[in-house]
Amino acid sequence: MTDIRVRFAPSPTGYLHVGGARTAIFNWLFARATGGKFLVRIEDTDPLRSRGELAQVILDGLKWLGLESDEQILYQSDRKDRFVEVAHELVKRGFAYYDFTTIEELERMRAESQARGEASFRFKSDLALVRAGAEERIQRGESYAVRFSAPPDGIAWNDLVHGDVAYKGDELEDFVLLRSDGSPTYHLSVVCDDHDMRISHVLRGDDHISNTPKQIALYRAMEWEVPQFGHVPLILGQDKKRLSKRTGATSVGEFQEKGFLPQALFNFLTLLGWSPGKGDREIFTRNELVQVFSVEGIQPKSAVFDEAKLEWMNGEHLRLLPDGDAVDYLLVHSDNPAVTRERLLAAWPLIKPRTRMPNTLYSEQPYLFDDPGEYDPKGVEKHLAASDVLVRLRDFVNDLATVTFEAAPLEAALRERCEVWGVKAGVLIHPIRLGITGKTVSPGLFELMELLGRDTVVRRLNRLLKEHLLA
Ligand code: GLU
Repeated sequence: MTDIRVRFAPSPTGYLHVGGARTAIFNWLFARATGGKFLVRIEDTDPLRSRGELAQVILDGLKWLGLESDEQILYQSDRKDRFVEVAHELVKRGFAYYDFTTIEELERMRAESQARGEASFRFKSDLALVRAGAEERIQRGESYAVRFSAPPDGIAWNDLVHGDVAYKGDELEDFVLLRSDGSPTYHLSVVCDDHDMRISHVLRGDDHISNTPKQIALYRAMEWEVPQFGHVPLILGQDKKRLSKRTGATSVGEFQEKGFLPQALFNFLTLLGWSPGKGDREIFTRNELVQVFSVEGIQPKSAVFDEAKLEWMNGEHLRLLPDGDAVDYLLVHSDNPAVTRERLLAAWPLIKPRTRMPNTLYSEQPYLFDDPGEYDPKGVEKHLAASDVLVRLRDFVNDLATVTFEAAPLEAALRERCEVWGVKAGVLIHPIRLGITGKTVSPGLFELMELLGRDTVVRRLNRLLKEHLLA
């Protein structure tokens, strides 16, 4: 078997789309699972875009996901001379020709094709005709493009994801290799690069499937070994259309900012379009994925991006971390001075089972760090209405001055009080929860009281009493 060498070849657009990230992950996993190499190439042939900054955002995203190139990163713009050389070689070999068609002529041909009712315009020339006189026209200084002559018999290949794919001769057009300004096109560059980088498998998005017959034709014309191709289906949004900014976040940077763990996004994207085949296990570390990954598991059908599921997965990965690491991660995502490492460490056992995301932790359980602002009006109505509730609460707050501030003695003290009064424990539990959290639901109340400590609990309950008892 030849050495497995795969690549991720983004164009520097200034952001790393999650679809691209998933393509990179599949390539990386394939390389790791087979002992091969994962390479990164920046396809920066568009002269209008600056190479450095835009590419850097993509490289940062890849790094954050742990997807770094095993060899030096190749920048396509460095290799123009090589592409030009190959284009002329293809002319010499009789597979490509100099094309002197002007823009006006091209427009006229397009219009005529439309008038004939053709679905799409395909440029085709008779090789023998276009070759005649070409040298003289070049000598005369006429500008020209270099076009590849589409193979009349079509192209077929066995796709790693879709199985047999075939394009008939009349579905292919003579495509440009070098534009009239001398710049190489994507098809030429990508094939030269993949060949020179000794890429064995090209795994990329479905949007490239119609490019593949053209590229295979180029390999054959150059008598280069054709890599295996696999086309990964698109990721869809909740609206079942191609995932776009309209329906939510699409770039890796946005997910990073929202506070997702890279290993959670990695796990999530891998399962979006790939399946381990058996069982319903969903949580995998990167190393576990390397163990079970195979290209055969890539699904030919598009998958739908479900951010709620990603949040759930984030919680699962958070719980896999050592406690100190989980706390450090949560800490990074808050700028509230009350959110300290010490406080988070103390709270962690209580909140660990349910925490999914830093932002929801801070928005749903602010009382872990700050006194509540307002009390849930429904809770006030339900739990403070009875005439004796606040008086009983005041008595219990007095008891709190002496009780040992740990969950078990706190619970015992509360239950004893209620028993003496002959009322249910809820008579105190609900108002206390409302007073210390502002909410009607919280983690275990006595554990929470222990965590917050005597001073905080007494201060918060006195405020509730002040606002309601004296009102
Ligand atoms: N640069 C192309 C893109 O960003 C990918 C080319 C390829 O994978 O062959 O879509």
